[in-house]
Amino acid sequence: MYDPAEQPLLLEARHVRTWFPIRRGMLSRVTGHVRAVDDVSFDIRRGETLALVGESGCGKTTIGRTLLGLETAREGNVLFEGANLLGLSVAAWRPFRRRLQMIFQDPLSSLNPRMTVLDILTEGPAHHGLLHGPREELAERLLGEVGMDTSSLHRYPHEFSGGQRQRICIARALSLNPEFIVCDEAVSALDVSVQSQIINLLLDLREKHHLSYLFISHDLGVVRLISHRVAVMYLGRIVETGNTRSVIETPRHPYTRALVSAVPVPGRDRARRIILHGEVPSPARPPPGCPFHPRCPEAMDVCRREVPTARTVDGITVQCHLY
Ligand code: SF4
Repeated sequence: MYDPAEQPLLLEARHVRTWFPIRRGMLSRVTGHVRAVDDVSFDIRRGETLALVGESGCGKTTIGRTLLGLETAREGNVLFEGANLLGLSVAAWRPFRRRLQMIFQDPLSSLNPRMTVLDILTEGPAHHGLLHGPREELAERLLGEVGMDTSSLHRYPHEFSGGQRQRICIARALSLNPEFIVCDEAVSALDVSVQSQIINLLLDLREKHHLSYLFISHDLGVVRLISHRVAVMYLGRIVETGNTRSVIETPRHPYTRALVSAVPVPGRDRARRIILHGEVPSPARPPPGCPFHPRCPEAMDVCRREVPTARTVDGITVQCHLY
């Protein structure tokens, strides 16, 4: 049985900060920063899936884009097999580009409508010098890997359903033999029945190719089906990390408890749902102390003054003054 803890580290994010400048006036002076990702650290091992969950706008997608060099971090390190990816030039990124891939939420907008499936699946391998035979042979093998037949080869993205388009996106990511894939809300736009098919496909491919995933989602119900570990994000920070089952069954952080209480469970009393009051604060002006304190039902005086440090309780790492 696969045990992530026994696998070698593949990716390590260390104290990553990705802030976006706010510019005002005729001279576009920088008057502040949106702290989309603020001091985030985590590890992912070979063959492991780490889920990143939280409300929209909490910084999940920005982390995924930062790992792949699509956003520029102002601080921190992202080590991929020990090599730091942050700050690499376009040329220095080239050997890594094929090894780290991304699958997006909206397959239609991430596929070029003027390209056939054959072109879509072979463009990357041709660019990276990985095409060692007829294009059709490679594209047919990739379609087989994602459960599609070869009659799709000369068709265009608009001729497929949402689920089929997402399969094409997965095949395109596989075409470069990646080791790490960021799945950014990869099943959120799909019907529930199609969601489970795509999750099963991702699970099969993970096992077959020993892939590692960063699975970004707002849906804990989906996350529990695919991830080994989960990291809960709030306002640009990770507030709780641990084994998926432990975090979902015994959430420690008050924010995680609210998220878990919103997952429908047959037989669970709806009245037990924790309703959070107030708006998520602006990441341009995060509150002092614990960033969750304006909405936290358990906030204490210390929460308004001091940022909690990470503590590990029964294998779960949590940032909260309650621990
Ligand atoms: Fe709530 Fe305080 Fe814990 Fe923040 S540190 S989650 S405000 S109890």
